Amino acid sequence: MFYIGCHVSSGNGFVKMFQDTLYVGGNTFQFFTRNPRGGSTKPINLDDINQFNKLSKEYNFGYIIAHAPYTLNAASKDSYIREFAIKVFNEDLKLLDLLPKVYYNFHPGSHVGQGEDVGIKLIIDTLNQVLKPEQKTMVLLETMAGKGSEIGYNFSQIKKIIDGVELKDKIGVCLDTCHVFDSGYDIINNFDGVLKEFNSIIGVDKLKAIHLNDSKNILGSRKDRHEKIGQGNIGLEAIKTIINHPLIKDLPIVLETPNELDGYKEEITLLKEMRK
Ligand code: FE
Ligand code: FE
Ligand code: ZN
Repeated sequence: MFYIGCHVSSGNGFVKMFQDTLYVGGNTFQFFTRNPRGGSTKPINLDDINQFNKLSKEYNFGYIIAHAPYTLNAASKDSYIREFAIKVFNEDLKLLDLLPKVYYNFHPGSHVGQGEDVGIKLIIDTLNQVLKPEQKTMVLLETMAGKGSEIGYNFSQIKKIIDGVELKDKIGVCLDTCHVFDSGYDIINNFDGVLKEFNSIIGVDKLKAIHLNDSKNILGSRKDRHEKIGQGNIGLEAIKTIINHPLIKDLPIVLETPNELDGYKEEITLLKEMRK
């Protein structure tokens, strides 16, 4: 099944995000659980959620992706920032348990000068505090570009985090094509090899979702600036190979390209044509 969609605005609730997704021709989507650069949240609208759950089932939607705010940094050296991360995780996971098919994607964190090992340990500690056996939602570590002091720009860092997490069935990975390209994985010439490396280090069973983006920068630039599909340095040919790879064929694929809904609609139309 081809589960494709784009990032949509969550401002008007789940039914609106469902409608926006139908408009662009998708059957999955991603949304921010709250203001990505702030953190405040709106009250839960149960009617909206129940209606969405019905529609999503009726229209055979795939797993959707909830994205944590950028302000969440589980690896911060400031304890109040780590406390905020725990609060956001707890609140968001409570909301997400109302949705039957959702992943919670977050940026592992930035160690802000403390070093990678300390950062990884702080991320593990946070996850072990917030993950609960009874929660339904799986949390995904997003692969990062390696901008600044970001953690998670290579597969062994992600693996170290997963190794430290006690509730392993609650943790997975979301692979962002712009990020892995910017961090130095040659997905143009060797996407299959990159996935093999992912498999040998992390295990491909942990791969649960794809952020499909082209990149404004070059391989290994560690920049993280997304480009429209086919208009960046990754290019259409590579993207075609990616969306048709047997190991990711059934995963939810979400676009985070610089577009409004009409632009996303064009990209999704193109991707559907390229999908074998
Ligand atoms: Fe992200
Ligand atoms: Fe992403
Ligand atoms: Zn990005």
